[in-house]
Parts: sequence; structure tokens; C-alpha cells
Amino acid sequence: YEEIEVAPTCTEEGYRGKKCRRCEDTIKTEILKAIGHKFTDSYFIATCEEEGYTLHTCLSCGNEYKDNIVPATGHDYETEVVREPHCETEGERKFHCTKCEKEYYSEIPATGHNYELTGTEEVNGENIRTYVCTNCGAITTQNMGEQYEQVSSYIEYLFEQYQPYMWWVLLATAGVWSIVMGVFFAIAQKNEEKEKARKMIKNYVIGLVVIFAILVACPYLVKGIAALIAG
Ligand SMILES: [Zn+2]
Ligand SMILES: [Zn+2]
Ligand SMILES: [Zn+2]
Ligand SMILES: [Zn+2]
Repeated sequence: YEEIEVAPTCTEEGYRGKKCRRCEDTIKTEILKAIGHKFTDSYFIATCEEEGYTLHTCLSCGNEYKDNIVPATGHDYETEVVREPHCETEGERKFHCTKCEKEYYSEIPATGHNYELTGTEEVNGENIRTYVCTNCGAITTQNMGEQYEQVSSYIEYLFEQYQPYMWWVLLATAGVWSIVMGVFFAIAQKNEEKEKARKMIKNYVIGLVVIFAILVACPYLVKGIAALIAG
């Protein structure tokens, strides 16, 4: 046998004793108590992106653990426009954390032109409108097409508005005309003015034709002329 000593660690006991020189046979004569960890504390303060905690590290064996954990605080961003956007170019906005100095940039979309009509010019019978951007002075034109075309399409529009009521307007006007003439005819009959009554019937028929011509034929005629000019 020879004398041996196994030193205790932080968590495991050691011993003193005798061990056979030829085999593994061991006799423990004294138990040496585990010495326990000797922790030292380090403090970590929470940052924008990382949690804070106290770290306990054993100087003897390196064992460590955390406690007093505080969550990450998150960034505290300030923002400013570093480049103004214009009609056709993007702007840029800067974000800056007042706590950790972290920065990033984001794009501000271009504003687009703010065109205002400044004039209309007639070139070869076509209407050309000119627009100027109030922000950057860019100029653009728009061809509004032939002016006759505009007039005729407006007449067409009026005609389409009127057409569904055309026959009703005709009936109503002819009705009023008939009543008026009827009253005069009755007066003439009563006064026995036969010549006057006969003339009245003739005028009545002429009146109906004129009403028809004005209310039905005329709109078609105007529409036809407009289409002819535009064509
Ligand atoms: Zn032995
Ligand atoms: Zn230890
Ligand atoms: Zn930050
Ligand atoms: Zn512009």
C-alpha cells in the first residue's frame, strides 16, 4: 500500500487513504469535504438590444450562472429628413438611436409633379394644352384633339340626353297647341265666322307641322351637321 490523497473539488468530496500498488484496491481513511464554489459577481447593464443580468462565476471551477435578468430596453429613435424629396427624386429620412448610436435610413417617395394648366393653343385645328409644374417648372403638353370633334361630341351628348323625352315633349306641345286652337275655333264657331274658322283649321295643321319640325327634325338635323363637320 501507499498513501494517497484525492483533493476535494467545489462539489465533490475528496479523501485520504491507502491504495494497493498492484491492484485498484483502496482504503479511505479520511473524507475531505467538498469546498463549495467561490463565486465572483459581474454586472451587465441592459442595452437597447441585449438583456441585463448579474453573472456569478466560480473562481475555482469556472461554473457560472445568471440572475437579476432585465429585458433589453429597445431603441429610442430620433428621426430627421436628410434629403427632401422632389418631383422626380426620392428623399431620405435618417433614424438615430439616442442611446446606442445605431442608425438607419429610409426612403421618402418622390412627390410627383404638381401640374397646372397655363394655356391652350390651337395648332392645325387641334387644341394643345400646356401645363407647368408649380414646384420644378417642368413643362408638359396634352393634345386635346380637334375642336370640331369636341363640339360635335357635345351636341351628340345633348341629343342623347334629349332623345328619350323627344316624343313626350312633342305630344305635350301639340296638346297645348290643340287646346289653344280649339278654344279659338269654338269662339269663331259661336260667332258664326265660318271663313275665320276654316283658316284656323289650316293654321292649326301648319302649327302641328312646325312643332314637329322644331322638336324632332331639328335635333336630328343639328346632329347630322355636327357629325358632317367632325367627319
Ligand atoms: Zn492490491
Ligand atoms: Zn466552483
Ligand atoms: Zn439603441
Ligand atoms: Zn415638378
